[in-house]
Amino acid sequence: MGVNILWKTTMTARHLLSSLFGRTASAAAAQATAQEPPSNGQDTSRMVLSDEQWRARLSPQAYEVLRREGTERSFTSELNDEKRAGTYHCAGCDQPLFDADMKFDSGTGWPSFFTARPGALETRTDYKLILPRTEYHCSRCGGHHGHVFDDGPAPTGQRYCNNGVALRFQPAEG
Ligand SMILES: [Zn+2]
Repeated sequence: MGVNILWKTTMTARHLLSSLFGRTASAAAAQATAQEPPSNGQDTSRMVLSDEQWRARLSPQAYEVLRREGTERSFTSELNDEKRAGTYHCAGCDQPLFDADMKFDSGTGWPSFFTARPGALETRTDYKLILPRTEYHCSRCGGHHGHVFDDGPAPTGQRYCNNGVALRFQPAEG
């Protein structure tokens, strides 16, 4: 009898804790999306969503890349051949990541850039292919975008190899 009461009390406490934390997480997410971008246009406020919320928000292909670090098949993105002036935004949170004049044709079949907007990306070393690679992700939502290599063109010598499905292209006005 005593054990049974203790068990019930523990379960109630767990239930209370999980509903408390659940509320805290969604309140934080609401706050992150409600913040106004700073005047320089680079929104550095973090965007934190649950896995469920990301699934609901993204296409299955974008979810696989952004939240599961998947890689799209090469030569499948229409952004590969995009040459207009404009800006490439994160498909997860819409933070601007690259300008069109940072793009170059790498011949790899993925949209490629020799640099990124300041503060837009963060990097991390991954060992998925045994040899270390530099993974990069959006600084605002943490969404995975691709890998950066040091075989790019001047002036940086860098090649940001980006999944097209993780980007949204915004053509310049006029
Ligand atoms: Zn993002």
